[in-house]
Amino acid sequence: MAKKQFKAESKRLLEMMINSIYSQKEIFLRELISNASDAIDKIYYKALTDDSLRFDKDSYFIKVDADKENRTLKIADTGIGMTKEELENNLGTIAKSGSLAFKSENEAKDGHDIIGQFGVGFYSAFMVADELTVISKALGSDEAYKWESKGADGYKIEPCDKDSVGTEITLKIKENTEDEQYDEYLDEYRLKAIIKKYSDFIRYPIKMEVTSSKLKEGSENEYEEFKEEQTINSMVPIWRKNKSELTPEDYDNFYQEKRYGFDKPLKHIHIKVDGTVRYNAILFIPENIPFDYYSKEFEKGLELYSNGVLIMEKCSDLLPDYFSFVKGMVDSEDLSLNISREILQQDKQLKFIAKNIKSKIKRELESLLKDDREKYEKFYNSFGRQLKFGVYNDFGQDKDVLQDLIMFYSSKEKKLVTLDEYVSRMPEDQKYIYYATGDSIERIDKLPQTELVAEKGYEILYFTDDVDEFAIKMLMNYKEKEFKSVSSGDLGIEEESEKQSESEEKESKELFDYMKEVLADKVKSVRASKRLKSHPVCLTAEGEVSIEMEKVLNAMPN
Ligand code: ADP
Ligand code: MG
Repeated sequence: MAKKQFKAESKRLLEMMINSIYSQKEIFLRELISNASDAIDKIYYKALTDDSLRFDKDSYFIKVDADKENRTLKIADTGIGMTKEELENNLGTIAKSGSLAFKSENEAKDGHDIIGQFGVGFYSAFMVADELTVISKALGSDEAYKWESKGADGYKIEPCDKDSVGTEITLKIKENTEDEQYDEYLDEYRLKAIIKKYSDFIRYPIKMEVTSSKLKEGSENEYEEFKEEQTINSMVPIWRKNKSELTPEDYDNFYQEKRYGFDKPLKHIHIKVDGTVRYNAILFIPENIPFDYYSKEFEKGLELYSNGVLIMEKCSDLLPDYFSFVKGMVDSEDLSLNISREILQQDKQLKFIAKNIKSKIKRELESLLKDDREKYEKFYNSFGRQLKFGVYNDFGQDKDVLQDLIMFYSSKEKKLVTLDEYVSRMPEDQKYIYYATGDSIERIDKLPQTELVAEKGYEILYFTDDVDEFAIKMLMNYKEKEFKSVSSGDLGIEEESEKQSESEEKESKELFDYMKEVLADKVKSVRASKRLKSHPVCLTAEGEVSIEMEKVLNAMPN
């Protein structure tokens, strides 16, 4: 059979990946084991809904075999297997073209974060192997096929023999070079350690032939070595473990193994609830914004498990939109396994869990804000916009969840402040929370409208995001203080000088009338102002909608 070429872009991506993505070569094993585990999950899940299938726990396992002489490492599973088409489709194309197009546009960005979201796990094997052979027999099929590839130059598929359903992947491990060491991936102790490190919680046994020693028969001090098959992983999922047993690295590894992101999580939240609804959850707040986060393609959601079995990859009902950046999983014994999507939405237990998770996330963010300001601001710079959208989109409904989490840049300390910080240091005579809108901090600094407020010694919040002003309009007030734009007609400071400006108004009436005539429809009226200090003129708005808001509204497609 003729050798097939990888699709052109796959070839490029493959080369790029082999050379750069993963910082550690050892994770190839994690990837292959997690694919094997997924394949067994698929049979397990099928058996739940298909009466002709039985899932007998003992016959499902993953087996790792190293052969030093032949330099091969084999990972076999008893999972669902792949048909010829699946071998071709799943292993023949690496990334969807959409993702690749994105990559080339953003070549300059840090490749690590972007590639992690492709799902190129299988190909990581090429980091340590120069040849891969996959033999697979799909569930319900009589035929088995062999897929072979030596890397970027293509692959070959041909029929072969295999008795049982499942997949066997054989890696021909690279020879050591001067700079790189590959022998370790054939070493029993090293392999055991890698499996323990990354795949301990895999729910199926990962077996391996391990050398043990025992006293020689009839001897008291002479030992002999023998081979014995051992299960390497403890099979207890990380979320069932006690927090005290787990290290920050365990959570980081889990985050990476689960492909929640390629960055390190900024914070993890481990929840164990043992009340009327029992559930365990591990949630993460990512450090970096996923590349598609602010696009339509982004799908929020948490993985949903029912008693250890994955039933939904992205359960969106578990997260409000404003927390859509949260990654992670929820496992509950109280959910039925073959629950459908429609029923799920109605599910009381699920609603309870969602509510509970929401308040947990809120509390964790609040404590991050309190205890680690720097980290919080890092988080806020990535996802603050989403929180502000949340205030706006929910019509202020979840105001109490969000109002203490949002921050704005302030004129006083030239840094981000919370509304609570602002209000708590307001002078007694200050009636409103003042804000100014503009494209950037620098431009707002130069706004003539800010002069009077600033001179009074009042702090001004700088709104540089389109959503800012819309969000606070939904909030209406914070701790009974209303928000006031510095460009609004009535600033609540001008009263005392009102009379004076009236007389000036008369004096300059002719000039103002002339200006109005020239400007015509562009302005509503021309008036004397007391708020100006060093600038000759400024624009103010009348009514609820500020000048900046009007700009945004006018720019919106109807
Ligand atoms: P991902 O796991 O993120 O989908 P991978 O590159 O790891 O990406 O795997 C690609 C696809 O190949 C999988 O989605 C799966 O369909 C198939 N696959 C890989 N390994 C196995 C296996 N051991 N058994 C069955 N299917 C597999
Ligand atoms: Mg995978």
